[in-house]
Amino acid sequence: MTREEQPHVLVIAAHPDDADISSGGTVARWAHEGWEVHYVLCTSGNRGSADPEMTPERLGEIRETEQRTAAEILGVTGLTFLRHEDCELEETLALRRELSGLIRSFRTDVLMTHDPWARYRIHPDHRAVGFTALAAIVTAGNQMYREGLPPHTVGQVHLFQTDSPDFWVDITQTFDVKMRAMREHRSQTMHSGEAMMERVRHWAERAGEEAGVPLAEGFKSFIPRH
Ligand SMILES: [Zn+2]
Repeated sequence: MTREEQPHVLVIAAHPDDADISSGGTVARWAHEGWEVHYVLCTSGNRGSADPEMTPERLGEIRETEQRTAAEILGVTGLTFLRHEDCELEETLALRRELSGLIRSFRTDVLMTHDPWARYRIHPDHRAVGFTALAAIVTAGNQMYREGLPPHTVGQVHLFQTDSPDFWVDITQTFDVKMRAMREHRSQTMHSGEAMMERVRHWAERAGEEAGVPLAEGFKSFIPRH
């Protein structure tokens, strides 16, 4: 199978590190198998620091660099930083059209994003990105939106950070790569450090039990119907 025939996976996340923590093992596995995986970061996480000396401008740059390095470790093919303001994402038509343009231009077969229905996850950016990315699938497939690229139909959706997983990917072989990628997000892990790593291992073991393999990542998956 040539690279052009391999599935195109578009990962739309609110912040740097969201996709790596929730789906890094899956991304590494698929990238290793030759799938094209592209990351869209809606914000650069420029409010994610407790350091009083840190500025949003500097933090945004640091986190983009961390994300680029982590993505390279996982085998991600490309990244797009939309640089919206951290903690202030909303479900706007403008964001929907921005995302639908990216879905079209990447010829997305598989879309991964936050599960906006996950209970008790209160970060507004995660919900806003999840809902807007799903709405963007509808816009991307509608031929009456004639600006830019031709319409495109997404074949499969995997929602991460879900509390209702029904699809699991065995990440036993790629778990170490995921951990290496996660360690690159130093601005986020320098305080939580190994406790965070332990938590991620625990999640992978628990998902693995459900999947019947040592280590896994779980998603809520469906074929989008309008
Ligand atoms: Zn996040």
